[in-house]
Amino acid sequence: MRRKLAAGNWKMNGTPEMLAELSTLTGGENGPQILICPPAPLLTRAADVTLGSPVEIGGQDCHANPKGAHTGDIAASMLKDAGASAVIVGHSERRTDHAETDAQVRAKAEAAYAAGLTAIICIGESEEERLGPDCLDIIAAQLDGSTPDTATADNTVIAYEPIWAIGTGRVPTMEQIIETHDMIRTKLTARFGDAGANMRVLYGGSVKPTNAAEIFEAENVDGALVGGASLKAADFQPIIDALAAS
Ligand code: PEP
Repeated sequence: MRRKLAAGNWKMNGTPEMLAELSTLTGGENGPQILICPPAPLLTRAADVTLGSPVEIGGQDCHANPKGAHTGDIAASMLKDAGASAVIVGHSERRTDHAETDAQVRAKAEAAYAAGLTAIICIGESEEERLGPDCLDIIAAQLDGSTPDTATADNTVIAYEPIWAIGTGRVPTMEQIIETHDMIRTKLTARFGDAGANMRVLYGGSVKPTNAAEIFEAENVDGALVGGASLKAADFQPIIDALAAS
């Protein structure tokens, strides 16, 4: 049984005052896992605010190396020390802004494992790729190249995030979501066996309180990675509730 996960990515947004939003989030008994990934400088304070609550804290990126001369970067172990239980790797904004490759994303995921963090590995196609004939093959190749051989159901979550759906208010059709998530499940199971069958696969891209319930109906959607709608508890809580009810 795969435990549902509602993960929020605050990106480069958030103030200390906004941390109060976290303290009101509730998951209910045996409810979905709730994770919020604030900007790194807020991690320790976020960990303090959520102590004893159902909300876990995660990072938005980590370096592939455990330490060294990498100005501005953050080691996975530093996120762990700050109270994180997970880290997002390979978000499309990292891939675009910092030209991150599948091999680099895979190395970051391995660094996350070494630090005892769950890696949330993001994959997803551009609009042009979605309109072309090879869309599923492109996503499958990203999945393969970005996921380490040592991935397990405990240390890895896959987030399918069509780039054209992130922050745009546009979402794929349910047919496209189901087809893509089913393909990802098939690939994971072929490569990792039971671990692949039990690995969680999130959908991300303009998930809102208004569309969450329908998206969560898909068998191989185990939750969501949410950007904009995770910034306010009034938006994120209904998404958590829709996941709990799915
Ligand atoms: C994201 O940043 O991963 C994301 C899915 O953003 P949004 O929910 O705002 O589309």
